[in-house]
Amino acid sequence: MDKESFVLIRKKMNRTQKQLAELLGVSLKAIHSYEQGWRKIPLHIERQLWFLIYQKKKQDGVTSEPCWERKSCEMKDECSAYEFKCGDMCWFVCGTKCKCTRDVDVREKMQVCRKCKILKALLK
Ligand code: SF4
Ligand code: SF4
Repeated sequence: MDKESFVLIRKKMNRTQKQLAELLGVSLKAIHSYEQGWRKIPLHIERQLWFLIYQKKKQDGVTSEPCWERKSCEMKDECSAYEFKCGDMCWFVCGTKCKCTRDVDVREKMQVCRKCKILKALLK
């Protein structure tokens, strides 16, 4: 995750840096470092942040069609996202069968999902 997306999500969540530090269980200094680009944002922090903004949107009544419908997916029957019915959280689960997320580890998968409209929609 880049620092711009990090800041954008914090602002969408109406959190100060201090409040977000508490929410993510990290120091205020770490938040400063992520936002200034001095420190790379760890994968577990990024995933937590995406999860929180996803939940916030859901609470605000923002819903979306599942990925298999939005992407006219032909692989859904083999896919973990479909099995667990998390078509708007497919970026969170591994074992997805989108061409680009197949047989990759969680770090590589996140790189792919960051460019996908399903995940990007959370920033709108
Ligand atoms: S995550 Fe990808 S492969 Fe799986 S159901 Fe969604 S669009 Fe299809
Ligand atoms: S690339 Fe990622 S976010 Fe996009 S549909 Fe596949 S699993 Fe979901």
